[in-house]
Amino acid sequence: MMRHLLSAADLGRDDALLVLDTAEQLAQVADRPVKKLPTLRGRTVVNLFFEDSTRTRISFEAAAKRLSADVINFSAKGSSVSKGESLKDTALTLQAMGADAVVIRHGSSGAPHMLAHSGWIEGSVVNAGDGTHEHPTQALLDAFTMRRHLGDLEGRRVTIVGDVLHSRVARSNVLLLHTLGAQVTLVAPPTLLPVGVETWPCEVSFDLDAAVPGSDAVMMLRVQRERMNAAFFPSVREYSRRYGLDAARIDALTDDAIVMHPGPMNRGLEISAEVADHPRSVIVEQVTNGVSVRMAVLYLLLSGSESALGTTDITLPDAEPATDSVPDSGPGTGTAHDLGRVSA
Ligand code: ASP
Ligand code: ASP
Repeated sequence: MMRHLLSAADLGRDDALLVLDTAEQLAQVADRPVKKLPTLRGRTVVNLFFEDSTRTRISFEAAAKRLSADVINFSAKGSSVSKGESLKDTALTLQAMGADAVVIRHGSSGAPHMLAHSGWIEGSVVNAGDGTHEHPTQALLDAFTMRRHLGDLEGRRVTIVGDVLHSRVARSNVLLLHTLGAQVTLVAPPTLLPVGVETWPCEVSFDLDAAVPGSDAVMMLRVQRERMNAAFFPSVREYSRRYGLDAARIDALTDDAIVMHPGPMNRGLEISAEVADHPRSVIVEQVTNGVSVRMAVLYLLLSGSESALGTTDITLPDAEPATDSVPDSGPGTGTAHDLGRVSA
């Protein structure tokens, strides 16, 4: 496992599978009455969010806390930190506070890369979404969700539909799914495809009705109106008619195919309310799985040099009574005991 997670392309097949398998083990923690492991006790994870987010920040926060890390939320909304110098000052502050990992979301593509390679901080950098570039943990949680429903992704057919132009989710998914052996088809109006998409390892189509029947998973993308500075399609009605997923279209899916969406959804635009709440929709599971996958990423990055490299076998402590098990409860709460169990 490497030091940073900046792009889905950083993950080779073995690394990607290691994250997914580790997440599968860590997911068991969520089923326990006490959802906490002492693994990252004493480590500090900073959530550095320059762009609005609810679910991703909460998901990383829950993941870090379940591993007993200390979490600092730094929301830079409103400050003008889009320039290198300002990001540098923020980074130096985080370094001075002893951040072991910085989870960064930024409106500018490339900001996490700059943070990781500038020499300003020593900790690990995790890209939680940069501009229209990448969102690797979203791709990992999507792959995790697909694997749970579809098994091995080798040869599986995934259709990603909608606003690919503005979507870091689409880019990270194409890269990771390709690494995992799936066949990806992007379906979008020509105006919502990025320049150079023909070099991506996937097919491109303009016809949703042709793509749906052969798909094992259909992933709808949010139409990102906040990033649109022009009219990319004639009208909402026209867009939903051609590129929206409605009940009639999901009837064309095969029996075990699933419907996904990274959230937040525009109900009635790219996805009908009926489809969003349909039994084939795994959208709520995606959110749950996000926590396990982010736990795995933090675990592998932060304990990477020690135990995690050699083994994915995380021994979960037995469920404990609530009284002595919340690791933040101060010194003397069985530190040696807990640390010993975690080193497996
Ligand atoms: N941007 C979305 C939200 O704020 C999801 C995300 O954070 O990735 O909920
Ligand atoms: N939540 C995802 C993101 O932040 C997708 C979206 O916002 O549409 O990239």
